[in-house]
Amino acid sequence: MTATPSAPSAGTASGTWSAPGRVNLVGDHTDYNDGLALPCALPFRTTVHAHAVETGERVLRASSAGHDDLEVALPGAPGEVAGWGAYVAGTAWALEHSDLLGGRPVPSAELRVSGDVPLGAGLSSSHALQCAVALALCGLAGVDDPDRDALVEVVRRVENDYVGAPTGTLDQSAILHGRTDHLLLFDARSGEVDPVPAPFDAAGAALVVVDSRAPHRLTDGAYAERREQCARAAQALGLAALRDLDVDGLPAAAEALVGLDDGEVLLRRARHVVTEDARVRAVVDLLRDGRREAVAAVGPELTASHLSLRDDFESSVPEVDLVVDTLLEVGALGARMTGGGFGGSVVALVPLDRLPALAPALGAATAGAGHPTPEVHVVRPADGAR
Ligand code: ADP
Repeated sequence: MTATPSAPSAGTASGTWSAPGRVNLVGDHTDYNDGLALPCALPFRTTVHAHAVETGERVLRASSAGHDDLEVALPGAPGEVAGWGAYVAGTAWALEHSDLLGGRPVPSAELRVSGDVPLGAGLSSSHALQCAVALALCGLAGVDDPDRDALVEVVRRVENDYVGAPTGTLDQSAILHGRTDHLLLFDARSGEVDPVPAPFDAAGAALVVVDSRAPHRLTDGAYAERREQCARAAQALGLAALRDLDVDGLPAAAEALVGLDDGEVLLRRARHVVTEDARVRAVVDLLRDGRREAVAAVGPELTASHLSLRDDFESSVPEVDLVVDTLLEVGALGARMTGGGFGGSVVALVPLDRLPALAPALGAATAGAGHPTPEVHVVRPADGAR
């Protein structure tokens, strides 16, 4: 897609903008290996009611229930604000340093944030917040239809340069390009997003997201360690990224890695990434086929992905494994952890007649293990930010 920013108009005094959470059906820990993922936007949204304020000093104010009010001078600078306000202030800062506003400053504004994206559940509430704030500030500045690819980059700058999180562009791409009843084939190398139909009802099944409510742990350190291991594996194999290895190349890669001190670990990390890219391609082919047996065959791909993340990538936790195992026992066609891991949510494909059994089974299994009670959401891929 080419960047064709819409011309700024005089600006808007007030308005409402919103952005959805996202879930990744398959393709985790592939994005920073230049690989593939298959997310969709969710029917949970973060809403920003915004109005321009007339003040002498340029200022951004924001509020969200349960969070401290934010007031910060514009355009601000990285390091000035921490916590939830960093996502808001960081978005204003990154917009000011982009071409999206046609050279205009970010307008002084007051933002009221609300919504129903679960926070900290691995469903990208933080990216939903940034995308909704970005659209609101663009709208107030008179840019009603900002270029979505440029917004993807703005959010990457917020994350990398303001918040200090080494994330890519997967989450905001799914949120900004979401399409009802479609998944999005995301190619991390090109940044391209290609809609894929999601005909789950053809298999008499529904998409289910289960928030394990397990506390995230070790996330930063373990995530950074996995990235470093993948980069080292690619380097040892003489590749630009693990994207450039395929399943047929794994035996030769094993021979090349085995001599390294932690070669066995590097091989398992590489094997996850390579087989995960293959699973994304397989799931896309099955969904595009669309026949009942093809769509049902997505399930085993999801479960295989979970086992790969659990065993080769070691990014699951017992609470999440128990949710996956319980869903499969109840009759899910397939289930897997989703997102960065180390807690967070599970995504599953579940026959419609098994849906009522999910919550009771999960409640019993997790109570028996002393884990938090998971939250079950039956969802459909939803529209993107607007
Ligand atoms: P995830 O993005 O998967 O939900 P994170 O831990 O990365 O999990 O981001 C959650 C954080 O994002 C919250 O702790 C909060 O700082 C911020 N956040 C997200 N949505 C909101 C909201 N509606 N109001 C205030 N803060 C929010």
